[in-house]
Amino acid sequence: MHPELQKMLQLQFFGKEGFVRRKCEKCGSYFWTQDEKQKLCGDAPCVEYSFINNPVGKKMDLHGMREAFLSFFEKHGHTRLKRYPVVARWRDDIYLTIASIADFQPHVTSGEVPPPANPLVISAKHKT
Ligand SMILES: [Zn+2]
Repeated sequence: MHPELQKMLQLQFFGKEGFVRRKCEKCGSYFWTQDEKQKLCGDAPCVEYSFINNPVGKKMDLHGMREAFLSFFEKHGHTRLKRYPVVARWRDDIYLTIASIADFQPHVTSGEVPPPANPLVISAKHKT
């Protein structure tokens, strides 16, 4: 580490709170920790995802995650819509549906036509 950077990182707060600077043995990134024995940075993919030392639950692939998202909102009264095309052919200011809100612009968001359902849930199309 550059000596000037090392000097800048010597903040009183870190010393007072018992933080030490370590280099991840997997990715080589530097990180702060209060655990003298910690060897990994704590970020994926060096370690599994967790939330405050708790595992995040079952692993899902993209399809499983999308289905869980859509099903959750369906159970709570939302109507599931089919995904819109990636090419936003109904718009002349963008080429791609950059976000699901683009599906409803400009005609629904301007109030010209009602939404296809309300409330609704939609999952933006992605590269398959
Ligand atoms: Zn790492």
